[in-house]
Amino acid sequence: FSDKDKMREQGKRKFSWRNETDESFARMRKIAQQRKSLPIASVERRVVDEVRKNDTLIIVGETGSGKTTQLPQFLFNAGFCRDGKLIGVTQPRRVAAVTVAKRVAEECGIELGQKVGYSIRFEDVTSSTTRIKYMTDGLLLREALLDPRLSKYSVIIVDEAHERTVHTDVLLGLLKNVQRARLRSPTNQCLVDSKDFHTSKVLPLKLVIMSASLDARGFSEYLGNAKAVHVQGRQFPVDILYTYSPESDYIDAALITIFQIHLEEGPGDILVFLTGQEEIESVERLVRERALHLSEDSRKILTVPVYSALPSEQQMQVFRPAPDGFRKVILATNIAETSVTIPGIRFVIDTGLVKARSFNPRTGMESLVIIPISKAQALQRSGRAGREVPGKCFRLYTEDEFGKLAESTIPEIKRCNLSNVVLQLKALGIDDVIGFDFMDKPSRMAVVKSLEHLYVLGALTVEGKLSDPVGFQMARLPLDPIYAKGLIVASKLNCLEEMLIIVSMLSVESIFYSPREKMEEARAARKCFASQEGDHITLLNVYRASVESLEKSRMGNQETIRDKTVEKKLNKWCRENFINSRSLRHAREIHRQILGHVQNMGLNVTSCGQDMDQFRRCLAASFFLNAAVKQPDGLYRAMASGQTVQIHPSSVLFGTKPDCIIFNELVRTNHNYIRNISRIDPLWLSEFAPHYYGNKE
Ligand code: ADP
Ligand code: MG
Repeated sequence: FSDKDKMREQGKRKFSWRNETDESFARMRKIAQQRKSLPIASVERRVVDEVRKNDTLIIVGETGSGKTTQLPQFLFNAGFCRDGKLIGVTQPRRVAAVTVAKRVAEECGIELGQKVGYSIRFEDVTSSTTRIKYMTDGLLLREALLDPRLSKYSVIIVDEAHERTVHTDVLLGLLKNVQRARLRSPTNQCLVDSKDFHTSKVLPLKLVIMSASLDARGFSEYLGNAKAVHVQGRQFPVDILYTYSPESDYIDAALITIFQIHLEEGPGDILVFLTGQEEIESVERLVRERALHLSEDSRKILTVPVYSALPSEQQMQVFRPAPDGFRKVILATNIAETSVTIPGIRFVIDTGLVKARSFNPRTGMESLVIIPISKAQALQRSGRAGREVPGKCFRLYTEDEFGKLAESTIPEIKRCNLSNVVLQLKALGIDDVIGFDFMDKPSRMAVVKSLEHLYVLGALTVEGKLSDPVGFQMARLPLDPIYAKGLIVASKLNCLEEMLIIVSMLSVESIFYSPREKMEEARAARKCFASQEGDHITLLNVYRASVESLEKSRMGNQETIRDKTVEKKLNKWCRENFINSRSLRHAREIHRQILGHVQNMGLNVTSCGQDMDQFRRCLAASFFLNAAVKQPDGLYRAMASGQTVQIHPSSVLFGTKPDCIIFNELVRTNHNYIRNISRIDPLWLSEFAPHYYGNKE
């Protein structure tokens, strides 16, 4: 061959290439690439420097820029966990804490619960080696009860601060105090200049506030003119589309839009904002039903739900790409607004609604209501469509309606029941609740009402101090004060076993499952559990029947709840009995956790056996604040508030008209509906709550 020929030959030579076989290695590399391409990656050094220089720093950055997953890792690598200290990251929502922790553990290539872990109410996945700890804001508040200086943390990152949940607001006030306390000796002398962070023995607390809303002024002012750093996001254009006229049935409108996108638009996943678990589950069913009427090829549509109470093993599903050729439709509550960023979304359907807590300080009643979102929320929602490519947002309301929305959301502290917060502040030794340094002060009336409630429940003394032991016990239980009180009362009345079940079942949404196409069957199934005495005993029957079904196959033991075979058995039982298996599993998990708490507290877990009258007496003694009596017109008057209420159609007592009842939930739609109701004897009220119902002269 001549040289020329040789070269020509070489040019023809070809290798055959083979993909990396080590899958986990390939995956790690892909993750490393993804991490590097996040907007926050390019400012790592600057952000770390700013945290070093400032005791309190505000970081503002668009959703998806990498704040939640990356910043804790940056700080860890920069040595903020020296001496075994932790970086704590708080989230308003449990699902966010769990999924982000899982993601970060994966990014670090470690097992969850080792270096990276999470802790939420009823679930702790951390160990002594955990250094980056994701948790709910409520959980950190509870930790402060045990360790007021939060001494194991070197940095606390309050994430999603723009959400302004009541826990975030209380936490911010508390953390300001902790920061000050840490810089002082017990004799109140200033010990250390926080700039000597790495040399000093006394560790000041670094505070980082992260927010997706661009306006950081409020936080900065509140936090002593703290510095704010903006992380430039990346956002592709999003087409905003409105309806021509207002839609009366937003569920139907959402369904029509889902299929319109599916059949007419190019590839890309759909994110639908709905208001709650029940609604999400019914849309899930309807999508599946309607898809059956499509041609084989168009049926490739996959629904994935995301809401707070979703069992943790199902939460990660939302991040998995749909199988080839399938379109993923994510049905979410406003959790997907900023808390979790799901890749692959190109279309957003915004119902314009959100379920929120609403408190009437005059009546002292809190209810869940579906209300319009704010403009800021609508903007966040549409932004989810343009993270990776240009997208489209379908607003199921008119442009006119959009114009009328409030600019931003009212902080929760201004519209919720404060009993829980007040109880916690009292337990933290903060007696002057009205004088507490809140970013936005709650109304005086709301505070007074909750002080009154806590006093009536026996948690506070006349002087407004935490009572011993009831107040302290109630503060220790991670439950609404009224449920905490229920458990304490039940331990005295020998029905704690029953009350534990009830509190767990009342802590989840929609135990009963009634698909539209099988209404009759579902109704018949429910009848098997129904008790004439009301919903509480009905729920008790459901729980016990489920345990019994497992016991038959010797699986009743709670310890084995995670076992796959148990899960299968339970799912089967749920299907046969029209019970929502997701909810029941969640209730079982909660049950296991609270049982642990009450056992630790030394309460007596005994049962009243067959004596259901005793149990109803216990319900009356626990929930006397929510008693209602029948009026001549057949409606009910809530005794504490004087409000007119009526029995919700989902109650087993619907259609019957007992003279006196107690209830656990108020739902406001066009009526004031009450749910979870039991029939009681009015005499029990004056027997068990004479201070409230006795002779008031
Ligand atoms: P931010 O907090 O700024 O909103 P995040 O740190 O939550 O941003 O998200 C950064 C990136 O990580 C996003 O691209 C998001 O899609 C991705 N991500 C977060 N959690 C997961 C997960 N569980 N699985 C896959 N990707 C994830
Ligand atoms: Mg985030």
